Amino acid sequence: MTDGSADTSNSERTDPGALAERIDHDETIELLQELVRIRSPYFEEEAITEFVYDWLDARGLDPEYHAVSEPEITGFEGNNVLARLEGTDPDAPTLLLNAHMDTVELVEAWEEDPLSGRIEDGKLYGQGACDMKGGLAGIMVAFEALAAADIDLAGDVLFTAVVDEEGPYGLGANQLIRDSVTDDCDAAIVTEPGPILAQRDLENPALLLGARGRFLYDITVTGEAAHGSQPEKGTNAVVDAGRLAAALTEIDVGTHELLGDGSVCPLKIEGGGETLSVPEACRLLVDRHVVVGETEDVVRADAETVVAELGLDSAVEIDFREAPAPDVRYGPYVTDADDPLVDALRTGVGAVTGDDPAIGYFSSVGDFNYFGHRAGLPTVIVGPDGENIHGAGEFVYTDEVVDVARIVTAGCVALLA
Ligand SMILES: [Zn+2]
Repeated sequence: MTDGSADTSNSERTDPGALAERIDHDETIELLQELVRIRSPYFEEEAITEFVYDWLDARGLDPEYHAVSEPEITGFEGNNVLARLEGTDPDAPTLLLNAHMDTVELVEAWEEDPLSGRIEDGKLYGQGACDMKGGLAGIMVAFEALAAADIDLAGDVLFTAVVDEEGPYGLGANQLIRDSVTDDCDAAIVTEPGPILAQRDLENPALLLGARGRFLYDITVTGEAAHGSQPEKGTNAVVDAGRLAAALTEIDVGTHELLGDGSVCPLKIEGGGETLSVPEACRLLVDRHVVVGETEDVVRADAETVVAELGLDSAVEIDFREAPAPDVRYGPYVTDADDPLVDALRTGVGAVTGDDPAIGYFSSVGDFNYFGHRAGLPTVIVGPDGENIHGAGEFVYTDEVVDVARIVTAGCVALLA
């Protein structure tokens, strides 16, 4: 904490910028370094979960573990970390702050320790530094600042640090919805890296007001085996799956004035063998990113049309990836640019940086889809930028981490004071 904490004037109590200034640059970055140095690929988050809990606990912020369990497919058991600041007015909005604690698996191509947290030229290096331990550090220090201040927010702030965002199903955020934790929330801020993953070129400060959604086709192609020296006597499932993969990329995908275009990308094709047989089965996995209006029925019908038009000899069964429950899907969403949350974050950006934020939309999917689509909350992504996300040499800009912490703090005050 820096200046002004000893004498809190009335104006500071309601001035978003004044409280944000109390967030200390060096303390924030030291916290980020500690987070980066904890190895935490998805499904292996015990250590970082404990760290976040202890950090909040040591500051009297009353954290609690929130059990996450998915016995059917992954067998995962773990914990989110939650904490709540109670507002003074039960009718005032409740704001959810969210970050994920996990990273992707450590990438082998690093030429240095991927957990070093080394800082050079304002860049902090490490796997997950940008995605999204920078944003996690940001909401931790913002939450601390909001709690320490004697500003009496009218609304509640709910801190949520979740597990398994990078894993296949976003199990941590899914559990928040499953257990109705989001039911009393009115808006959500997610501090995922922003501009680098936006639909178009943007620079921070930026607010991302929506995201495309995603389906994963899981398609089975069944042909007929025959001796490989007489391919005309069988039906080659591998050849038909290849033709189908190519044809699916030609789907006339949806378009949205804000989210841009949908997209189709075949991800995996597996089938056949090394014996001299015409392959009788093949499996095809195809990513489909969608915009608002493209429902499961639409997406299924599109693929069925492609299959019908191709007239393959193989039988084709179109399905979607197995999920823990039918609603565990990344749906697209758009948050209204006039929403009070967006206004509050604009105020926060102005107070912290003096700028008007760029407005954009996210190109892929994440836990924010669960808040924005499934929970129906106005959801904004505001996060620090960096490079090499999910790759070797990942880094985050330290100044942007501090800016995001301050913007979130100021935005909370603007919305809830
Ligand atoms: Zn992320």
